[in-house]
Amino acid sequence: MYVQNPFETNERAALRETVRKFVEADIMPYMYEWDEAGEIPWALHEKFGALGAWGLGVSEKYGGLGFDDCFMRSIFAEEVAKCGVGGVGAAMGGRGISIGPIEDFANEEIKEKCLADIVAGRVGSSLCITEPSGGSDVARMKTHAKQDGNHWVINGSKAFITGGMKSDYFVVGARTGGKGLKGITLFFVEADTAGFSRTEMDRKMGWWASDQAMLYFDDVRVPATNMLGEQDMGFLAIMNNFNFERISMVASMTGMMKACLEDSIAWAQERETFGTQLIKHQVIRHKIADMSARIDMVESYLHMICHQANVGEMPVAMVSKAKFSASKALEFVASESMQIMGGAGYLRGNRIESIYRDVKVNAIGGGSEEIMRDLAVRQMGL
Ligand SMILES: Cc1cc2nc3c(=O)[nH]c(=O)nc-3n(C[C@H](O)[C@H](O)[C@H](O)COP(=O)(O)OP(=O)(O)OC[C@H]3O[C@@H](n4cnc5c(N)ncnc54)[C@H](O)[C@@H]3O)c2cc1C
Repeated sequence: MYVQNPFETNERAALRETVRKFVEADIMPYMYEWDEAGEIPWALHEKFGALGAWGLGVSEKYGGLGFDDCFMRSIFAEEVAKCGVGGVGAAMGGRGISIGPIEDFANEEIKEKCLADIVAGRVGSSLCITEPSGGSDVARMKTHAKQDGNHWVINGSKAFITGGMKSDYFVVGARTGGKGLKGITLFFVEADTAGFSRTEMDRKMGWWASDQAMLYFDDVRVPATNMLGEQDMGFLAIMNNFNFERISMVASMTGMMKACLEDSIAWAQERETFGTQLIKHQVIRHKIADMSARIDMVESYLHMICHQANVGEMPVAMVSKAKFSASKALEFVASESMQIMGGAGYLRGNRIESIYRDVKVNAIGGGSEEIMRDLAVRQMGL
């Protein structure tokens, strides 16, 4: 039913099967209960970690797999997203966007202290960029750090930080230089540092099973050795990280769309209206064709992106275009599949209902549709 992946290998197919079985056995029987409760059991982080979910791109010395593969990153994201309850993937995956900067830029002492635990899912970590005053315009970041001898003192606040209530470690962007993107530095901050506090942002539209936190930095002193990468170059340091985050989101949206399509087809085959199966009505068949075409296009594009990322040519423009095209496709597919379900789709406890509530976080988070379009056009040299 879906496009072939010209880059498929036995290893990737085997990984997909492993993750699929994990999702079916360890997530799907419990996910609505967790969603309503607003959290997942910590053991799930560790089970997912044991599959290697956060080990790609991390050296074996720190519990990683010692190699990277963009297709495998996508497989983890897509298969978990297929469960349909986005908060489960967000709760586990929140740490994913903080691992790259730690692996690439933290000193040995920090890596030895925390990386293996983060990668194994024993502890949480978060990337902290967005602030109450805005997330799109990273260049106007207000949280700042001032040097004081062998320390930096951080002041400010961060908003919407996924996993922020439970994480032990944070990668925090702070202004250390002048205005603009070239004055931002990344710091490694531990949750038990004096002056750090947090509160939960609750009552969200979706992603119930994951937490998003407000973080407060009130004269938080960190050793100068906690600086990740070069001073004032923090934005450049996380640019590639953004690409991997967006690719994972495209993969995850592909999984969500497939779940919607499969559930709406199953329903349309079972349901009868006006004396015949729902799926025999041409209007419904056309909805299925439209959904399927959008999924194929996003998925084929994702394959090309993963291939280029793997050969060391991260296609930034394609990643931005894929991100906003996928969220537009998801918006369409979630809406049309819910329409096919009729009133039954509106009830809690089905994948289409929870996916419908998660459309907007994919259109806004990790680089909004508007910002992705801007980036794509800038990449065209315009
Ligand atoms: C559930 C959830 C989890 C999140 N997790 C994290 C996390 O772990 N870490 C983290 O750092 N952040 C996180 N975020 C924050 C997310 O990245 C931001 O919400 C996003 O970058 C947009 O920032 P904003 O919400 O401040 O919107 P704003 O930047 O205030 O923008 C508001 C709207 O205006 C549009 N806009 C802005 N500028 C322009 C322009 N020049 N032209 C046209 N339109 C424009 C935007 O696209 C957006 O639609 C999360 C957000 C959510 C909702």
